[in-house]
Amino acid sequence: MAAALHLQTHPCFHGTCQLSPPPRPSVSFPSSFRSFPSNRRSLSAHVKAAASSSSTTTLQEGIAEFYDESSGIWEDIWGDHMHHGYYDPGSDVSGSDHRAAQIRMIEESLRFAGISEDPANRPKIIVDVGCGIGGSSRYLARKYGAKCQGITLSPIQAGRANALANAQGLADQVCFKVADALNQPFPDDQFDLVWSMESGEHMPDKPKFVKELVRVAAPGGTIIVVTWCHRDLGPSEESLQPWEQKLLNRICDAYYLPEWCSTSDYVKLFESLSLQDIKAGDWTENVAPFWPAVIRSALTWKGFTSLLRSGLKTIKGALVMPLMIEGFQKGVIKFAIIACRKPAE
Ligand code: SAH
Repeated sequence: MAAALHLQTHPCFHGTCQLSPPPRPSVSFPSSFRSFPSNRRSLSAHVKAAASSSSTTTLQEGIAEFYDESSGIWEDIWGDHMHHGYYDPGSDVSGSDHRAAQIRMIEESLRFAGISEDPANRPKIIVDVGCGIGGSSRYLARKYGAKCQGITLSPIQAGRANALANAQGLADQVCFKVADALNQPFPDDQFDLVWSMESGEHMPDKPKFVKELVRVAAPGGTIIVVTWCHRDLGPSEESLQPWEQKLLNRICDAYYLPEWCSTSDYVKLFESLSLQDIKAGDWTENVAPFWPAVIRSALTWKGFTSLLRSGLKTIKGALVMPLMIEGFQKGVIKFAIIACRKPAE
C-alpha cells in the first residue's frame, strides 16, 4: 500500500511528465545484435553477454530511432495501437475490421490472464512496458478507471502519447516517459498489472527483462507478455535450423531485434522466479490476417507516399514485412502470450 501511495504522488500524475531524454548520437545497427546462436541451453549466457556490452546501447539507440521515425506514419494509417490484431482463425477480414481486431487483442489478452472485471478486484495501477504511443495505456486506463504509466525508448512516442492523453482528458490517469524496460524507473512491488504488448522481442537480455517485470509487479499482481517468439526446439535440437536463423536474422536487421527466444524459454524464466498460474498460448493462427493487411495498406497511395517521406529505417521495415508472413507460415515464428501472477505476500 505504501508503494501504491508513492506512485500516486509521482510527478507523472500531476501533469509534469515532460522528460528531456539525453541526446542520442546517430548510429548504425551492427549485425552483432543477432549473431548469437539460437541455443536454448545457453540463452541466458548469450543475452547477458549482450546486455553487458556496448551493443545493447547501440541496439537501444537503433530502436529509439526506428520508432521516432516510423510512429507517425503508423499512427496516420493504423491509429494508436502498434500491435497485431486478434482474429478468428481462417476468418476473412474486410478493411475496416483491423482496428477492432487490435482492440480484441487487448481484450483477449486480459481474458487469457483472467483479469477481473469486478470493480473491487480490477487493476488500479498499471505499467505499460514498451508503450508505443500509449494505445494500450489509454484503453486500460479508461476500461478500469486505472492509473497507468508507460515507458518507451522513443522520445517521439513518449511525447505523442502524452499529447494524446492530454487531448483525451486522461492526463490525470496516464503518463509516459522515456525509460528502459531493463532498468525500470519504478520501485519494487508497484503494479497490479504489468503489461508488455509486443515489446519483449526487442529485449536483448530476456532474463533481466522478466526479472524487471516481476520486480515492479505488486504482490498478487498479474504480468502479461504478448510477444514474438521462435518455435520451441525439439528434444534433440540445440538450435534452430540455419535457414530458420537466417530468416530471423533478416527480420532482426530491419526491426532492431536481438536474439529471439521461444515461448518455453519465457515460461522457464517465470518458473525460475516462482511465479504462479503461469499460462502460455500460441496465437499464431489468430494473427494471420494482420501482415497481409499491413502490406495492403502500404501499397495504397497514402501508404506508399507516407513511406517514401518517412525515412530509410521505415522503408527497410516495410520491405521485410513479407518475411513475417513467411516466418509464421513456415512455423518458425510464433505469436505468443505468457501470463502469470506474482505470489501475494
Ligand atoms: N506496446 C505498444 C508498442 C509496441 S512497439 C503497442 O502495442 O502499441 C514496441 C515498443 O517497445 C516501442 O515503443 C519501443 O520503444 C519499446 N521498447 C523496445 N525496447 C524497449 C526497452 N528496452 N525499454 C522500453 N521500451 C522499449
